[in-house]
Amino acid sequence: TELDQLYVHESVENVIPQDAFVDAFDEVSIPAELVGDGREYDASDAIATYAPRPEFLDAGWVHCIRAGYDEFDTDAYDAAGVALTNSSGIHGSTVGELALTFMLSLARLGHRYRDHQNERSWWEPPYDRPFTIENERVCVVGLGTIGEAIATRCDALGMDIVGVRRSDEPVPGVSELFDPDRLRDAIENARFVVLTVPHTPETEGLLSDEEFAAMRDDAFVINVARGPVVDEESLIAAIKNDRIAGAGLDVFETEPLPDDSPLWGLDEVIISPHKGSATNRYHLDIADLVAENVRRYQSGDILKNRVA
Ligand code: NAD
Repeated sequence: TELDQLYVHESVENVIPQDAFVDAFDEVSIPAELVGDGREYDASDAIATYAPRPEFLDAGWVHCIRAGYDEFDTDAYDAAGVALTNSSGIHGSTVGELALTFMLSLARLGHRYRDHQNERSWWEPPYDRPFTIENERVCVVGLGTIGEAIATRCDALGMDIVGVRRSDEPVPGVSELFDPDRLRDAIENARFVVLTVPHTPETEGLLSDEEFAAMRDDAFVINVARGPVVDEESLIAAIKNDRIAGAGLDVFETEPLPDDSPLWGLDEVIISPHKGSATNRYHLDIADLVAENVRRYQSGDILKNRVA
């Protein structure tokens, strides 16, 4: 069946302005329209959405506008024979730059200076606290789009980069690759441990007590992946007990991060509200991907980023 309609589900508003997103499909061969819940679909419909809905299983193709599609039941899509695609491949520079923002700030103390600026205080850090990230080792766990973009940027800044990857295919700038079952060897000498893996049963709680014990006590965790990849309680304990130095976190076990989370109060933790991919042109990056897949669908080609 050919597609004759592209629906944009209102849940996209979680991350992009819905009207601007619909407008971005002006040049696409099928009309685009904003929809809410409670609608019926058939095989000639495509849907671009942030959140899953049971009725989407009647459509021809569903596009998750996020890279992480862990909230979608891929087995149900396979069983229904409905194509599911995600937005991997467009977050390299956006999420990559946020990871670098965290690393540079944690090294050069941007976060502490701003804390003190808020108090109009000319704070001088302890002599041994600031450091350059040049020549420091970073371990990137998960070398997909985001992981590779981070490795490229760290390489440009003169860092020593190692990575954790399931395949042993080399990655530009990465000096050593470790198998996932050697995670502890990979992270033990790193100043920064950067998480860029999807949230799956294998990656849930990937960093927990044993990993924090294996890490250097001056190491920082950067999580731009998904909250559950880190055991948050262990992370908080590790920072409080000086087993590691701190963290830059864009993602959390519970979002928004609850008011009473101890993370808010830790000097060496930088918190951003799951905005790794947020930029002023994010809707256009996603629309390009969806438009490309509309073309592929209509000509019977293999869809980009098909995950079910
Ligand atoms: P991607 O699919 O290009 O890369 C993921 C990589 O992780 C792949 O290379 C995969 O082989 C690897 N991987 C999977 N399981 C692994 C394991 N157990 N050990 C080692 N490597 C493993 O996806 P991406 O675009 O780079 O995004 C990665 C994740 O980042 C997404 O799944 C999403 O959860 C998260 N993300 C967060 C934000 C944000 O705003 N913070 C934005 C986009 C994506």
